[in-house]
Amino acid sequence: MKLSKIKSYLLDLPVTERNSIISEIVKLSEVRTDIVCNFQKIRRDVLNNKQGECPHCQHTKYVKFGFKSGSQRYKCKSCNRSFTEYTGTWIAGLHHKDKIDDYLNLMVQEKSLDKIKVVLEINKKTAFDWRHKILSSISDIDDDEFTGITESDETFFLHSSKGIKVKNRNPRKRGGSSSKRGINKEHIAVIVTQDRKKNLDLSVATCGRLKKINIEKAIGNKISDHTILCTDGHVSYKGFAIDNKVEHHPLRSDLKQFVKNEVYHIQHVNSTHRRLKKWIDYKFWGVSTKYLQQYLNWYKLKETLKDKKYIAKSFAEKTIENLSYNFKYKNIEIEYQILISTQL
Ligand SMILES: [Zn+2]
Repeated sequence: MKLSKIKSYLLDLPVTERNSIISEIVKLSEVRTDIVCNFQKIRRDVLNNKQGECPHCQHTKYVKFGFKSGSQRYKCKSCNRSFTEYTGTWIAGLHHKDKIDDYLNLMVQEKSLDKIKVVLEINKKTAFDWRHKILSSISDIDDDEFTGITESDETFFLHSSKGIKVKNRNPRKRGGSSSKRGINKEHIAVIVTQDRKKNLDLSVATCGRLKKINIEKAIGNKISDHTILCTDGHVSYKGFAIDNKVEHHPLRSDLKQFVKNEVYHIQHVNSTHRRLKKWIDYKFWGVSTKYLQQYLNWYKLKETLKDKKYIAKSFAEKTIENLSYNFKYKNIEIEYQILISTQL
């Protein structure tokens, strides 16, 4: 319908009806701005406000250096090399740069790769690669220490080779079950830790049973004198707490002890387990173990941003916080090989 037609239709309506339609349209446009972002502008603002660094040598002094194909160029005062808004980011070298803002919007809305493929007219492999470049660029390094009561517990995902052809085993349906009883190498342990101030850590830890060293690696650097650890009776957590001299309240589930002194429990963390599994199983129909940590980082970011007004913008900002995406992206395979080589 032409704009002039819509206008005349609106003008013909009684005032109250017209106003109510207009207010609905305003609401819609608010929803739209919630999910709009402009990656190039976000990055350019960071660099122009002298809050960025040279992507080649991390020096913080650089000057504007003209334009190149619609991009602002900068020149580093230390290494003398030039760069643009895109250099060092996950977008560097991508074709279809004009589609990245829409891609980020669709990703934040958790649209499927098939849907994105159709809307943006890109192939599915591109949609998949972009997703993992973006996830690799999300900083998973935060030094926030856990303070106060801190719940930690592991949950298990069955090993999945989704998207990869596997010999000697029929593909498992979503979720599925292990071919052996008990916890074994087909179970991928994920440690979830959270305090009651919304600090959250999600770490793919090992194949099979959890050991003290896995807990140390996942959360050892986030434990302090201010941490009060609350876990189940797992012996590895006891050892970890003793090693780190941290106050520890293990719950005796064998005695049906689910809450101790009214405050010590692991119900928040168990609720996170459930929501995380539901998200992985029903939003993505399961994910390949190789990419599991990437999705955990996405889930964590999603939790962090859920109260933000401009989620896509905040999401885009997070993807430029560290420029080491390329290292992480290329390391996915190596990390996976290390994981599956861990023994019971
Ligand atoms: Zn430099």
